[in-house]
Amino acid sequence: MGQMQRNSHVLQRLFNWLRYLPPDVQYVILLTIYTVAGVALKELASVFETAEAITPWDPSSSLHFVLLLGFGLRYIPALVLIPLVDNLVITPSDIRVTYVLLSALCVMACYGTASTILLNQLHIEPRLRRFQDVLWFAVVAAFIAPLAASASLAAILAAAGDFPWSKWGSHFLHEWAGEATGIVMLAPPMLILLRKAPWSTKSHIALNRLMPPKINLRWPKFRDVIERAIEVVILLIVTWAAYSIPPGDSLDFTYFVFLPIIWIAVRKGFERAALAVLIVNVSAAFFTYTKSDTNSPLALQFGLMTVSHTGLLLGAFVTERKQSQEQLLYSAYHDSLTGLYNRAWLMDKLKQAVAQTNANKNYLFAILFLDLDRFKVVNDSLGHGFGDQMLIAIAERLKICLRHKDTVARFGGDEFTILVDDIQGVREATCVAERITQDLAKSINLGGHEIFTTASIGIAISSIDYQQPEDILRDADIAMYHAKVQGTSRYAVFDRAMHDEIMQMSQLENDLRRAVESLENQSEPQFQLYYQPIVLLSSGTISGFEALIRWQHPTRGLLPPGQFISMAEETGLIIPIGEWVLREACRQLQTWQVTFDFRASLTISVNVSVRQFLQPNLVEQVEQILRQTDLNPGSLKLEITESLVIENPEEALAMLTRIKALGVQLAIDDFGLGYSSLSRLHSFRVNTLKIDRSFVSRLGIDGENSEIIQAIVMLAHLLGISVTAEGVETPAQLAKLKTLECEEGQGYLFARPLTSQAAELLLSTAPES
Ligand code: C2E
Ligand code: MG
Ligand code: MG
Repeated sequence: MGQMQRNSHVLQRLFNWLRYLPPDVQYVILLTIYTVAGVALKELASVFETAEAITPWDPSSSLHFVLLLGFGLRYIPALVLIPLVDNLVITPSDIRVTYVLLSALCVMACYGTASTILLNQLHIEPRLRRFQDVLWFAVVAAFIAPLAASASLAAILAAAGDFPWSKWGSHFLHEWAGEATGIVMLAPPMLILLRKAPWSTKSHIALNRLMPPKINLRWPKFRDVIERAIEVVILLIVTWAAYSIPPGDSLDFTYFVFLPIIWIAVRKGFERAALAVLIVNVSAAFFTYTKSDTNSPLALQFGLMTVSHTGLLLGAFVTERKQSQEQLLYSAYHDSLTGLYNRAWLMDKLKQAVAQTNANKNYLFAILFLDLDRFKVVNDSLGHGFGDQMLIAIAERLKICLRHKDTVARFGGDEFTILVDDIQGVREATCVAERITQDLAKSINLGGHEIFTTASIGIAISSIDYQQPEDILRDADIAMYHAKVQGTSRYAVFDRAMHDEIMQMSQLENDLRRAVESLENQSEPQFQLYYQPIVLLSSGTISGFEALIRWQHPTRGLLPPGQFISMAEETGLIIPIGEWVLREACRQLQTWQVTFDFRASLTISVNVSVRQFLQPNLVEQVEQILRQTDLNPGSLKLEITESLVIENPEEALAMLTRIKALGVQLAIDDFGLGYSSLSRLHSFRVNTLKIDRSFVSRLGIDGENSEIIQAIVMLAHLLGISVTAEGVETPAQLAKLKTLECEEGQGYLFARPLTSQAAELLLSTAPES
């Protein structure tokens, strides 16, 4: 904000001030300035009149275009003001008022039509920002419009008897050249100045968004001032040489004017060329003023007109070329949605920063890696357009949180990276992170919706260990991941332990792959199944087992599923692992059923994970395994979690129906943690609910819990679903569960998960059912 204020142009402030005046006052001020300036310019032009009342140029007509292109076509009627005031008030001539009125109307018609065509038909950008705008302006405003106006004005004057009709031709030509030159010399510089005006046309806004923002420097650099001064001096000398030195037999200096004009247009572009054209025209008038008899006025006029058009068009062409190059460069380093820098830019900048740390041991910087929490939810629920708007709003907020030296880039998606440059220590980086998390936590209002968003930030501090920009980014990313795991709206600073943990994880992943390969190679499997008995509470007999996987890790010993199942899920390795578990469990149960043939009703429960469950050929797989192991389908019970059913109701229903059709039983594992309705589970034709350990463990501590379990049991029974209690550890819990009429139990009270040998031993000694 402060920056904007400091750099704002004097003109900008003036325009802003004008804007807050009442519209009527604005109108009067504008038209007064327009009329006074127009009449003054006419008078100024007449100062340079030659003996035959010919002026080298008449810039008053340029004001018509400044008014209409700058402020809008609604001012067309005002175009009669300058000719009327000039001819009736300032220099009243003996021509009749009708002719004066007629010529005023003629001016309005010609210039009004030209402006309408330029804006409405040719759709030029009224501040002449593109080459095509300047081209059309040169053709229509500075060539055809004065041609039409001069031809008709000369006719009106001839008709009024100001001069004989025979002189119409020369009169028209002088008038035309004067008007045309007047328009090219003054209108473009003035329209360029109007670019500072705060009001703008639609096309102007659209163009502005395309272009890189220009920085307004209040004072031009010293070098620049000198350069401009030299330019002016050269222009003056050349114009003087061209128009003051009488042409010799073979020498005509007038063409010299082209040299500096072309030079400036090519080197500096449209704006400077427009200024140079103005300087040449004004000074040419001065230099020929006293010597009007030495040059042919028409040659002077057409010479100036040619020089002016050439300068403007060439300048506009060069500017457009330069702009499109800048545009290319800009888009290569900016994110098109938010206007922030992009990944490419940040990587470049980071490369420099890394190089600087190597050169200067005291130099420190930090990288903040920011990821929005749950952005995907917003995007999916409210639409991508909405998500885009949100990213733009967030980009704006991030900019505000930063210090002057820091830069933020969008990395794509909902990831932003911030370079906190030149810091003394970690504290400065965490300060920025704190400010960002606080600021982002405030709600964003988007089209009436109040949106809350938070971000997780990972911070990495530079050190000489970082040889590549990618390394420090990676560490910031790891820290971000840690922040996210801890909960939303947090930041974390990277440290060595995080790195080690990640390394361990990826080591574990490799090991897991190898373990899965061992399954496929038919070599000694690294996985083992443990079996935990499930007991009928009424009689205390074993009704079945739950198969629980263990991983015999080559170096880390026996690992429980909690340490590798989620990784297996993420990597998809759960699919071969799950298949092995299913086959092994079925094979084992079948063996036991044969060995202990009096236990034909024994069941085996197998855990099936989400990824495994949603795999399309699961049913075929189960069917095949049952066939290969020769197990009765009713002895197999698949355990799935509540969340699986809630999150994928359609797929789950389809899959469950097919599995049930095989005759396999279904159980809902860890029941009570999710929020599924019992009636839905009924429609899935579930056989068993396994009440989660957390409910069972609190049994007997307070009465409320037993009521929850009681309610679940009652409802389940009404729907024909049996209930198994998980994690039964104490006789008190067992007693309570019995009174609640819970059918089965599983837990350390009965037995821990056992190896197959131990389970076999148990089967051979335990009482029969
Ligand atoms: P789960 O299916 O709910 O299995 C019960 C877990 O509770 C087992 O842990 C078991 O050892 C433990 N448990 C049993 N009774 C008690 C008790 O009285 N007190 C306490 N504190 N715990 C008891 P485990 O074997 O570590 O398995 C953890 C989870 O890993 C399982 O929860 C299951 O979701 C998953 N899992 C195990 N094996 C497999 C498998 O083969 N495939 C898949 N996809 N997941 C598996
Ligand atoms: Mg289970
Ligand atoms: Mg469970």
